Formats: sequence, structure tokens, C-alpha cells
Amino acid sequence: MIIHNFLFHRVHPERDPLWDPMDPALFEKCIKRISNQFDVVRIEDYVLEKESYRHQKIATIQFDDGYKDNLYYAAPIMEKYNVKASLYVVTDCIDHNVPTWTHILEHLFLHTRVLKFDTALIFLPNEYRFQHFGSKKEQLDFAQRLKAYLKTIDHLSRSEVMNSIEQQYHDVELPELMMDWNDIRQLSNAGHYIGSHTQTHAMLGTIKEHQLIKNELVNSQKRIENELGYIPLSISYPVGSYNKEVIELSKQAGYKLGLAVKQYTYDPETDNDFEIPRIELYNEAWWKTKLRISNQLELIKKRIGYRK
Ligand SMILES: [Zn+2]
Repeated sequence: MIIHNFLFHRVHPERDPLWDPMDPALFEKCIKRISNQFDVVRIEDYVLEKESYRHQKIATIQFDDGYKDNLYYAAPIMEKYNVKASLYVVTDCIDHNVPTWTHILEHLFLHTRVLKFDTALIFLPNEYRFQHFGSKKEQLDFAQRLKAYLKTIDHLSRSEVMNSIEQQYHDVELPELMMDWNDIRQLSNAGHYIGSHTQTHAMLGTIKEHQLIKNELVNSQKRIENELGYIPLSISYPVGSYNKEVIELSKQAGYKLGLAVKQYTYDPETDNDFEIPRIELYNEAWWKTKLRISNQLELIKKRIGYRK
């Protein structure tokens, strides 16, 4: 049996050059096609009662981060096609209405009028410490390199760099994109599942200290319990980052499933419930999206791999 887990982030009609949300018209096409081809269930219901879904062709719909447009644009379309999704929220981002750190980084570099980057953080390689930019393009190219680099370092160092960026580019206001708890309660009451996407969107696989991983897992769980009245069963690992220790600590914290981002289908016979793969869908041409939904891209890639 093969389960198709589809992952979305933002759904919004306005284009964004940095990180384009999915257009609501494309989102509707996706939901229409997915609900035609599959029985759509919530991943939590499936994992808890696999036996009862044995003879169905199953897909799940999931959203990461907790954007307000999920409520305004995605939820009405899901209601129209009568599908229920799972949404994974970053509790600090919800509490303070600030985006995730990758989004903050890109937004600040794009909008600041300060054409240099100058930090005293000595653990950073020199190429990331002192930069004067001749153009906005140079600055944005640097932002992409810095973001890629920050994904490779530990959580505490990354937080220091983010603080330094926010201090230097304080001429920019952060966009208010996130849902609040009332929004989230509405989705929960409508039958969607709310799970954890950690407390701060930390990349769990990069954290060395047990206690800090635990904090991310447990604090987000408690926050959701306080607001919604139940302990979430699912953890979606930010940026798909996890390791054996993260899985172990997730189990200890009481989670029943962990969600990765691997762009392939989930085979419950062979895939671990704490490494469940998801196929991300983007704002791209419909023919490509169709290939992703029917899993053709994966099959094509496999075939190419076999030929090598
Ligand atoms: Zn995320």
C-alpha cells in the first residue's frame, strides 16, 4: 500500500519574488484532482488506525508553518471539496506573529536600504562577516549563500547570526503572515488537525544539546495543548531536518509520527512512522504539478537512476 502525502506552505493570489505562494486557482486544481484520485484522510488518523484504511487509495493534505492565508484561501477550497488537512504550526511564530527564520532573513535582505553586512561574530568565516554590496542583486545573492550556510551550522550559532541581521537591518518591518490562535482554533473546529512544527522552527537535526531539542518538541506541544485542549501526536521537522536522536526524543515526548520532506510516497510497510516522506507542491506549471500528484516525477527519476 502506498500513501501520497502532499505538502503545501502558503496559498495566496499575490506573487512574491522571494518565495512564491501557491496561487489559489492552482491550489483548487490540486485539491480537485487529489480528491478525485484518492480518499483524502488526515495522516494522524491513518497512522493510528492503519488497518481500517487497508483497501483504500489514500492521500493526505498537509501545511507547514501556520500562515494566515491557509485559513483565508486554502480552507474554503478544502471545504468545497470536503477534505480535511493537517496543519503544523511553529508556536513562537504564532505567539509573536513573526515568520520563520529563513523567511525573516530573505525579507530583511530584500527590503533593507543598508547596502552592507558587517558582523562581529567571529565564528563566521570571513566571507560571511564583512560585505559591501554594489547592487541589490549582489546583496540578494549573498543572502542566498548565507541562508544555505546557516542551514549547516548549529541552532545557537544560527540564532546569533539572525539577531545580528535583525540589528543591522532594523529599518525593515517584518511582514505579518501568521495565523493567531483564534484562526487555528477555527481550523481545528472545522475538522483539520493541528500538529507541531516545533517552537522556533529550529532545524532539529543541527542541535547538539538534548535539552534544546526537548524544549522545541515539548514546549510547542504544551502550547498547542493549552490553546486547543489536546496533546498533538505529530511533529513536522522544520526544513526536513532530523536524526536518530530527534526521533528518539520525539517518541519520548509522546509523539506518534514524524514528518519529513523527501519528495516521495510513503510505504507504511517499509517507512518508519517517524520518517514519513511528503511530496511538496509548488506554484509551478500545472503539467509539472500533475506529474508530482500522480507520482510520475518520482518514477521518472527512479528510471533514470536505474539506467546509470
Ligand atoms: Zn517550516
